[in-house]
Amino acid sequence: MAIATINPATGEKLKTFTALSDSQIEAKLTLAAEVFDDYRYQSMAQKSQWLNRAAELLEQDKLQFAKIMTIEMGKPMKGAIAEVEKCAWVCRFYAEKAEEFLANVAITSDATRSFVTYQPLGAILAVMPWNFPFWQVFRFAAPALMAGNVGILKHASNVPQCALAIEEIFQKAGFPNGVFQTFLIGADQVEKIINDNRVKAATLTGSEPAGMALAAAAGKQIKKTVLELGGSDPFIVLESANLEAAVATAVTARMLNSGQSCIAAKRFIVAESIYERFTTELVAKYKALKVGDPLQEDTDIGPLATPDILTELDQQVQETVRLGAKVLIGGKPADLLGNFYLPTILTEIPADSPGASEEFFGPVALLFRVKNIDEAIKLANHSAFGLGASAWTNESQECDRLVREIEAGALFINGLVKSDPRLPFGGIKRSGYGRELSSQGIHEFVNIKTVWIK
Ligand code: NDP
Repeated sequence: MAIATINPATGEKLKTFTALSDSQIEAKLTLAAEVFDDYRYQSMAQKSQWLNRAAELLEQDKLQFAKIMTIEMGKPMKGAIAEVEKCAWVCRFYAEKAEEFLANVAITSDATRSFVTYQPLGAILAVMPWNFPFWQVFRFAAPALMAGNVGILKHASNVPQCALAIEEIFQKAGFPNGVFQTFLIGADQVEKIINDNRVKAATLTGSEPAGMALAAAAGKQIKKTVLELGGSDPFIVLESANLEAAVATAVTARMLNSGQSCIAAKRFIVAESIYERFTTELVAKYKALKVGDPLQEDTDIGPLATPDILTELDQQVQETVRLGAKVLIGGKPADLLGNFYLPTILTEIPADSPGASEEFFGPVALLFRVKNIDEAIKLANHSAFGLGASAWTNESQECDRLVREIEAGALFINGLVKSDPRLPFGGIKRSGYGRELSSQGIHEFVNIKTVWIK
């Protein structure tokens, strides 16, 4: 894929970039290794100061950063601004908490003194996607840099200006040159970077094929990986639920980022006693959504990031319909220039159709009717993925069962699945492994060193 800015709302190619040459890659890897030798011993206070400065810079120019995202991948402006603000939050969170998370832990043993200490690994490669082009990077970088690692970013090829802006933020914030570097390279260069001895570990957020390729390459080098891949998360609404709140949240849960979120609710599993009401109200709310220019403040749904995403989504919808699903609303691309897809709701989804098993990365809700909680849990778990489930109930026994039985990295009861710097984030099954954020996230890329002293 060419490294370029192509406005998804118009199809216009605005800027192209040349990928780094072999010698440029070599120079950047050398710099990363050299700067790490000093940076690893920087004090927590100094690193916190730089990271807090990065938060300030993000907030100062949030409109400018938001616009870069919107122009490159089509995110509506209000979501883009909120994303920049959240990046500032994760910077401040780790600036404050990293010292506590990485403090030595004393352990009683046969030593005079034994403890665990956390030490940085070195250069960590982050292969990141376009869907939250600032957030995905900051949630990697804030803990990684506070732990004393240095970061190498290979961003998605359709968001190069975001990638360069992020590198500049870290530089302006005061981090030494080379502590965070953007590598403008194609996916075909990733294996070479992983194979390099100066790169110690890698993280990837994106599709399953990309995750498999990265993990296979890293596995051959015995290097640790964290993978945050796709999801087809359930949104379960049981009879006792507050229906009004559930429907309102269902819209946000599915439509955030024009439907292009790994933790978006994708399969709505609703008790049959409330199914008709839920469906009618959801359709009404979908009708009210404004599709159009993502630069306008009141736009709810922008274009999908690339023509390929649009084509794939439409193929999944058409195949699911061909096999017997019913379209309640939408069901096709919008009649607009650019990669727009209509807000869509499908129901009566056959078990052998893409709607029952695949991730739909766009504004398409898949509705399923179930008799009771047993059926709901069974259907929710009948998925190759397991990222973040949402369930709505006011019965404590149902709540207990959901906590025990739902197969996912996270379960949100009576709320929207969201990432939050305070809470660990990640999946099970084909959604990936490892955790980001919170104290668990900062412990992924450190040497958990045991010290035993007699
Ligand atoms: P990709 O997984 O292809 O892209 C994500 C990142 O991985 C990009 O930086 C990409 O680089 C890189 N990459 C791609 N292939 C490889 C590889 N073989 N080895 C190493 N790195 C690689 O996502 P797409 O943009 O193609 O989106 C396809 C689907 O992926 C979506 O429809 C959605 O289902 C899922 N997805 C999930 C996301 C999530 O948040 N979990 C985010 C984005 C996508 P480059 O851009 O240069 O190809």
